[in-house]
Amino acid sequence: MIASPPGKSPDAEVLLGALRDLLGAVGVLTEPSDIARYATDWRGLFTGRPLAVIRPADTTEVAAAVRLCAAARAPIVPQGGNTSMVGGATPSDDGREVVLSLERMRRVRDLDAVDHTMIVEAGVTLQDAQEAAAAAGLLLPLSINSEGSARIGGVLATNAGGNNTLRHGNARELVLGLEVVLADGAVWNGLRRLRKDNTGYCLRQLFVGSEGTLGIITAAALQLQPGLVSHAAALCALPTVESCLALLGRLRRRHWAELQAFEYMSGAAAALVPLAFPEITLPLAASPHYVLVDLGASETFDLEAALEAVLAEAMEAAEVSDAVLSRSDGQRKALWRIREEHSEAQKRAGASIKNDVSVPISAIPELLRAAKAACEALLPGVRTVPFGHLGDGNIHLNLLQPEGMAAADFTARTHELADCVNAVVHRLGGSFSAEHGVGRLKTGMMAEWRGGPELAMMRAIKSALDPAGLFSPQVLLPPQDPDAEAARTLRDA
Ligand SMILES: Cc1cc2nc3c(=O)[nH]c(=O)nc-3n(C[C@H](O)[C@H](O)[C@H](O)COP(=O)(O)OP(=O)(O)OC[C@H]3O[C@@H](n4cnc5c(N)ncnc54)[C@H](O)[C@@H]3O)c2cc1C
Repeated sequence: MIASPPGKSPDAEVLLGALRDLLGAVGVLTEPSDIARYATDWRGLFTGRPLAVIRPADTTEVAAAVRLCAAARAPIVPQGGNTSMVGGATPSDDGREVVLSLERMRRVRDLDAVDHTMIVEAGVTLQDAQEAAAAAGLLLPLSINSEGSARIGGVLATNAGGNNTLRHGNARELVLGLEVVLADGAVWNGLRRLRKDNTGYCLRQLFVGSEGTLGIITAAALQLQPGLVSHAAALCALPTVESCLALLGRLRRRHWAELQAFEYMSGAAAALVPLAFPEITLPLAASPHYVLVDLGASETFDLEAALEAVLAEAMEAAEVSDAVLSRSDGQRKALWRIREEHSEAQKRAGASIKNDVSVPISAIPELLRAAKAACEALLPGVRTVPFGHLGDGNIHLNLLQPEGMAAADFTARTHELADCVNAVVHRLGGSFSAEHGVGRLKTGMMAEWRGGPELAMMRAIKSALDPAGLFSPQVLLPPQDPDAEAARTLRDA
């Protein structure tokens, strides 16, 4: 077993030497200044101490590196853009884990305009993949606000959702095939580009959402759509959450094929954006609720007029109190920026507790009301700043520290406040992690929410594919407590 640096054990030195022989100096980083950016997560919640960061250049190198680490029993944490919201890509601090970054694997291997497919390596950023598709007149219909940094491997390993899920589904729906390096170093080439392939278990979907715990995704075959040539966007102010649902229903009936995004921003969350970014102004008067609507079509179509007509009806019905419609691509981007800067604006506003939850869309008004009331009762002054993908039932029900409260005192209440939100989510039949995953942050919630046969099946899959626990041992699955899990299995049976 590899021991911790500093004063690395002879076994660790042997492994590092073998990795350097395989990957060269550029492929193995050990200097603290070189590995710092791989060792801390985007939110700054976890800082690890990896044995090394390795950066293979192709699938053959990934496979050989996995074999070396497996032989030395050095756990591997795969990493893409390191934008995980739940610390999924951050190594532990025991000095034993090797971070395997896919950042040097950045080739678009194939793009087929007839099949509407592309094959991309895991280290291609989502934005570069989108741009490659757009250059061929096609659309990769997945959009998240970290797309400039997040990489295809990470996006698939987390089954990312984002802004277009209501129209095109999660990352899972775009995956036709995968290439994966398994725990014994074997390469599974499953890069088939077929829409129909009922030949047993759908193995590729096991790896989507597995958060690096089952294998290393090295490339993916993705489904593309026709490129969008017509667009329209509007920022709307609405009096109640119920009116947001009414507007969503109206748009679904009238423009389901064109509806690309329906994004929610509470008044409290939107107000933080101009504070963090003085160059941004909210183009509408203060309102308790805002929605950003985005329509797109693959043929020339006056979507602005179409959207204007729907909004006029909604205003007539008092669902929308005011709205601003984009009249150019620049204006559309400016409206989107208000939504896109929410995560960063909240980061700058102080300590926050993030609850990435989902409920059936019909339950969103109750979710927002009940969670706010419960959190305020527990901690008077706490600021509830929800926003998110209302069109698919996913709200980032985030909480900000009360004015005047020390950040450390606030974050010390994380569990109580998250439990408070989750009690409401549970009652409404929702999920404690809609799109960010479990990572290292939320493993403690798995037994309570997914215990019994569900967790037992997950453990069986993990031990079948990674019997030695090589990949990301601290991610997704909680440490096993056989007695507690047996009791739960009986209770649930
Ligand atoms: C500003 C901001 C906005 C965001 N918005 C959204 C959003 O709208 N929707 C959403 O779903 N998420 C969102 N996220 C979260 C994050 O961007 C996504 O989870 C993204 O998919 C992670 O990609 P990544 O390349 O950064 O992965 P990383 O953070 O590097 O890794 C994430 C997980 O995947 C594993 N992994 C990475 N690469 C591989 C691989 N090649 N093979 C196997 N496992 C791998 C890691 O071990 C880890 O468990 C946001 C994050 C930020 C910072």
